[in-house]
Amino acid sequence: CRASLEVQSTSNRNKDLPVHGVSETVVGVLGGGQLGRMLCQAASQMGIKVIVLDPMENCPASVLAHYHMVGSYDDSAAVEEFAKRCGVLTVEIEHVDAATLEKLEQQGVDCQPKASTIRIIQDKYLQKVHFSRHAIPLPKFMQIDDFESAQRAGDFYGYPLMIKSRRLAYDGRGNAVAKSEEELACAVHALGGYDRGLYVEKWAPFVKELAVIVARGSDNSILCYPVVETIHRENICHVVKAPANVPWKIMKLATDVAYRAVSSLEGAGVFAVELFLTADGQILLNEVAPRPHNSGHHTIESCFTSQFEQHLRAVVGLPLGDPSMKTPAAIMYNILGEDEGEPGFLRTHQLIGRALGIPGATVHWYDKPEMRKQRKMGHITIVGSSMGILESQLKSMLREDIMDDQPA
Ligand code: ATP
Ligand code: MG
Ligand code: MG
Repeated sequence: CRASLEVQSTSNRNKDLPVHGVSETVVGVLGGGQLGRMLCQAASQMGIKVIVLDPMENCPASVLAHYHMVGSYDDSAAVEEFAKRCGVLTVEIEHVDAATLEKLEQQGVDCQPKASTIRIIQDKYLQKVHFSRHAIPLPKFMQIDDFESAQRAGDFYGYPLMIKSRRLAYDGRGNAVAKSEEELACAVHALGGYDRGLYVEKWAPFVKELAVIVARGSDNSILCYPVVETIHRENICHVVKAPANVPWKIMKLATDVAYRAVSSLEGAGVFAVELFLTADGQILLNEVAPRPHNSGHHTIESCFTSQFEQHLRAVVGLPLGDPSMKTPAAIMYNILGEDEGEPGFLRTHQLIGRALGIPGATVHWYDKPEMRKQRKMGHITIVGSSMGILESQLKSMLREDIMDDQPA
């Protein structure tokens, strides 16, 4: 326990005391990574108390949270104990114990978004079933249990075939591509075998990846942030450009799909909807995250209300803020870990040094205890008057040509 715990839920606060801050509801966040940390930063501006549950003593949110309970968000007893200290329970990661959230909801604990949403989203196969039932356009998909069913899927969908783990996936770590039937066994093995719980998706021949952050208020009002383009490298988000450079019709279609996807889920908060744009102008949903998301980090500097403030507003029952951009353009670059060991490698330092000299650039460093290769260590957002200017600023910061829109 970092602070002597003075956290109280709204229900037991002393009614004679004056109200401090924008809301007295204590927000409990399952997970204390960089998203939890940025939620704490937004909360401190509004005088809202955020407490986090995370197993890592020195997790990124730890120093900024009003209180950090060391424990696993997958441990029923820990989540139940944590819930006693919150006015509302929310998540910064979807891989939490959904059964416990359901039980807590039955006992009257306010979970936002709802446990039903977390349950659907944390299993990518169930998520696909849910969205297809709601007529959301998706790549075709099917569950696989053994080699025969995988072969059948390959026959139906052709190759390359995307094989995905149903659960615990992030940064592409639950994905494997089979380029031919001969590669099926190897791809399945790389994911830990059929027992891990796998399904396949038809390859989506996208020309761009887009994303929309959608906020849902406690009154069920829904607001969408501008559509952004996300550029991935080795399955990890690399650069985000806001707004996306696509025709107005595509913006509208992407926003409409994202709006409908989030409307089909229950609870308040922000949601990120990842989309594929195909050459013939179709929008297909890739996946939804029930929380703030990497594709929305630019909103801290570029929008009237950041995704983090918006999430807090939504879960504590305040009116939603304006999601529109206050700068014409923004670009976000993820700083990924270089190699094993402690933070402080040369390239990262040089990059941050150069970013600090760029007008309109903001450096975010998550203060993770350890740098690991491909781990998200921080990000840099540059805002400015046109995407062309931002792209050349980013290029000069990186001293390399990364602005190729094609996925690597
Ligand atoms: P995240 O970190 O976004 O949670 P994840 O591990 O859940 O990632 P996905 O979003 O499923 O992984 O996929 C990662 C990337 O792989 C996508 O952004 C896209 O570039 C590519 N991808 C995913 N599904 C397909 C598909 N059906 N066809 C082609 N490419 C795909
Ligand atoms: Mg995912
Ligand atoms: Mg994804």
